[in-house]
Amino acid sequence: MRKKVIAGNWKMNKVLAEATQFVADTKDKVPGADKVESVVCAPFPYLSELVQKSAGTDLEIAAQNMHYEESGAFTGEVSPAMLKDIGVSYVVLGHSERREYFAETDETVNKKAHAAFKHGLTPIICVGETLEQRESNQTMDLVADQVKKALAGLTEDQVKETILAYEPIWAIGTGKTATSEQANEVCTHIRIVVAEAVSTDAAQAVRIQYGGSVKPANVDELLAQSDIDGALVGGASLEADSFLKLVEAGA
Ligand code: PGA
Repeated sequence: MRKKVIAGNWKMNKVLAEATQFVADTKDKVPGADKVESVVCAPFPYLSELVQKSAGTDLEIAAQNMHYEESGAFTGEVSPAMLKDIGVSYVVLGHSERREYFAETDETVNKKAHAAFKHGLTPIICVGETLEQRESNQTMDLVADQVKKALAGLTEDQVKETILAYEPIWAIGTGKTATSEQANEVCTHIRIVVAEAVSTDAAQAVRIQYGGSVKPANVDELLAQSDIDGALVGGASLEADSFLKLVEAGA
């Protein structure tokens, strides 16, 4: 059985006092890490403090992005070594908002995936189609292509450790959730793509989250699907109570 991983993606929200209050309210209430992985993806300025405040608990802190280079003249960027150094354990890569607004490509996502593993960070790699692509029946090919390009050159063991997040863009922040069948259909397809591109063992081990308007009211049904191993949650992860309901659903 694959352990479920529930990640709250705060995006560009909260000030420091709100972020630390959230961690104070949740860190001792999340289920044990043997049951579910509970992750909060926080903005860069708060990561160090939140890692310290959640130390020794089952709440994990993630970054929402990073650069793939080790160091150097990349003004405004944050390196994988910096994240590792402050105790961050996961990093979201290739979120559709980064692909759309910050020119993230399959190639940069792949470089970042390699850089994450080099520094002992677990990547949460996002893929997903636009409404237009879904309506013109491109979903399966597009998502397969994104997955193969993101994972290119990783070892089988690294792929087993990777978390993929299937996030249909038309379902992000819109209140329109993919039906659990629609979500599972693509997650099953992703697992087959991983089996073909890497190995059956890797496909069985890789965790595939669904993301896009997940909330306490629909999380149980989504997590009950055969190939959905967790959720990447934006809006419904901002309140501690709601986040706790989501992680409990994964336990
Ligand atoms: P949402 O965002 O839950 O607010 O739809 C999901 C995401 O972008 O990861």
